[in-house]
Amino acid sequence: APTLGILGGGQLAQMLALAALPLGVRTVVLEPDPQAPARLCAEHLQAPYTDPASLDRLAGCDAVTLEFENVPVAALAALEGRVPVRPGGHLLARSKHRAREKEALRAAGVATAPFVAIESGADLAGALDAVGGRGLLKTSELGYDGKGQVRVNSDAEVRAAWDSLGRVPCVLEGLIPFRREVSLAVARSAAGEVAFGPLVENTHRAGILRTSVFPAAAPEGTEARAREAARAVAEAWGLEGLLTLEFFQLPGGELLVNEVAPRVHNSGHLTQDGGGLSQFEAQVRAVLGLPLTDWAPLHPTAMVNIVGPADGQEPDWTGIDTLPGTRRHLYHKAPRPGRKLGHVNLVAPDPETLHARLARLEALIP
Ligand code: ATP
Ligand code: MG
Ligand code: MG
Repeated sequence: APTLGILGGGQLAQMLALAALPLGVRTVVLEPDPQAPARLCAEHLQAPYTDPASLDRLAGCDAVTLEFENVPVAALAALEGRVPVRPGGHLLARSKHRAREKEALRAAGVATAPFVAIESGADLAGALDAVGGRGLLKTSELGYDGKGQVRVNSDAEVRAAWDSLGRVPCVLEGLIPFRREVSLAVARSAAGEVAFGPLVENTHRAGILRTSVFPAAAPEGTEARAREAARAVAEAWGLEGLLTLEFFQLPGGELLVNEVAPRVHNSGHLTQDGGGLSQFEAQVRAVLGLPLTDWAPLHPTAMVNIVGPADGQEPDWTGIDTLPGTRRHLYHKAPRPGRKLGHVNLVAPDPETLHARLARLEALIP
């Protein structure tokens, strides 16, 4: 049976492994955390990402992919040339570093928010003016779920934020008055064939994704623009495998790329239950060179994240399980405030029913 290696063993690896199995594909995950979600449904190599024996095991797989971008580039370098690594280390090196990523997006001809790369204190002078006077200072590395970012409205706040973030390399971005946030995944085969996922609309709460909805309520032409940007990035970056773009949509309809994830994305989880191919199967197919065409839910679908609350309050599972069209997906993680513990997908026959049920579902999830 074909075997797929996965760097990282979190919930994305769990769901990749669950999607691979019915295709006759086994998975092996390299993940140092003994409690990582994927341990329950994949072979778990519990070791540092650079462990030579574990990398030898992955090199014996048919292909290697990743579910987590903060894998050391050295781990990918140790695999390249021995096994197809998709996406490759050159792409990972960009997408794990905000400043390099934004520069590479611009080089691909794709619009981003105005930004200034901050490498040292000297770069702070005039930076806020250059991005429009209001912004977000974000660490270039390791940020997720809005961690490592500070809103800034004055030069003094920029300096204080840089100090509070530890004076590490950052990006100062202009604050974008977006109308909505959308995302779209693209897959590209080694032969250069491109396929797209659905356009999904996202809302955030406290910097963390709260809901995703398909179809997005975006104006005519938005999906075509998003696909054009995704194709440009996939081709310019030499993608093999799958990546997801997050966009801001401006009031005039223009799309700016916020960031790129070199993998399946939280906003694509709704594809598990919409009746079409899931993003997880799409990544498995793209990475192993199995046939893949555009994928999207066949029905209106939404997702709500379950995020660990400060008071340890559980969602109302009985209410959720008896609401028509819901399915839970739990990650077997110890609850902690602000930690993603699972999600609930919701499917409905038409958008009106979806939105009515989504309001009820959201009321059941603290
Ligand atoms: P994740 O990787 O979990 O998506 P992250 O920590 O990398 O999150 P971003 O995606 O950069 O963070 O930002 C999180 C959210 O904060 C965005 O989806 C958006 O809602 C808001 N945000 C980020 N940058 C800007 C900006 N320049 N202008 C306005 N809002 C922003
Ligand atoms: Mg991010
Ligand atoms: Mg983001």
